[in-house]
Amino acid sequence: MSMKSIRTKLKLNNKQKTLMAQHAGYSRWVYNWGLSLWNAAYRDSYQPNARKLREVFTNHTKPLYPWMKSLSSKVYQYALINLGEAFKRFFSFGMLRKQGLGKYPRFKKKGKHDSFTIDNCGKPIELNGWSHKLPFIGMVKTYEPIEATTQKITISRQADDWYLSLAFEFTPTSTEKITDVVGVDLGVKTLATLSTGEVFNSVKPYRKAQNKLAKLQRQVSRKVKHSRNWYKAVIKLAKQHRRVANIRKDALHKLTTYLAKNHGSVVIEDLNVSGMLANHKLAKSIADQGFYEFRRQLEYKCQWYGSELVVVDKFFPSSKTCSNCGHVQDMPLSLRTYDCPDCGLSIDRDLNASINLRNAVGSTVNACG
Ligand SMILES: [Zn+2]
Repeated sequence: MSMKSIRTKLKLNNKQKTLMAQHAGYSRWVYNWGLSLWNAAYRDSYQPNARKLREVFTNHTKPLYPWMKSLSSKVYQYALINLGEAFKRFFSFGMLRKQGLGKYPRFKKKGKHDSFTIDNCGKPIELNGWSHKLPFIGMVKTYEPIEATTQKITISRQADDWYLSLAFEFTPTSTEKITDVVGVDLGVKTLATLSTGEVFNSVKPYRKAQNKLAKLQRQVSRKVKHSRNWYKAVIKLAKQHRRVANIRKDALHKLTTYLAKNHGSVVIEDLNVSGMLANHKLAKSIADQGFYEFRRQLEYKCQWYGSELVVVDKFFPSSKTCSNCGHVQDMPLSLRTYDCPDCGLSIDRDLNASINLRNAVGSTVNACG
């Protein structure tokens, strides 16, 4: 058993987003209140601490602000604990100082690192699947399934999205593996090609959504910059971007779960952009993110299901090498088939690459008996 942490995006409606923003605002308010009191106490040569601040807040400050009653009181308790810890870091010298962790606590600004922490009054918080009942907050959904039991959760904002972070104790549950080692080649035309010959196609709605994305992009560029209609078009475009990203992510989840559950070792190439570099800049940046997301999911899912993730150096010529005899040749992207002049092998280029990745770990595959 070991401690793991996870940070994942929340799927919230507007009402929930407002609730999150209120709690983050509450947390910031209390943190800043605590910091100014702390500063004032120092000036009067008192030694403040988080416990004392909490007493003052509970008994004297909170009753003055009725709006705080409608929010979880865990928020202010953790805000003051965090403030206390920030001071602790500031006063600890040595290694921490060198790492730049011990700066004097600063006032929090709205919209910058908005976050808050709550717990379940000593009871564990169980998360299982795609919907979760959080203390005080109620039901929330996540974009990926989570299985964890934790003591406290932190919810934070990044741009317009809210994320859930938590730490949990983790015991891996090994699943039965159908294949010993599998090589995976990520592509543009196909989502992934496995060395077993299986192909995960790019999802169709994804292509459709991408066409729409291109159309919206054109609409934005035709509008007068900063005009009303331009803003409208920009918002539409941003929403479509998100839609495309979500569709891709769903497909990625299916793929990574399948890989981690059913294979002893999963071999991937580090930053597999060989095929993607040919596309224009936008496609590349999306594709790159897709790769990082793919790897992130594989990393934790391999731990969940007791398999091993092997990342092969990006200079390994998986596309250029013949998976049968080791001959190396240039493979322009237009060539969809690897034709080997040495041994006569003729094979799909992605399949060839995935077999090379599988072989790169040096395991004997298909060993019978
Ligand atoms: Zn060959």
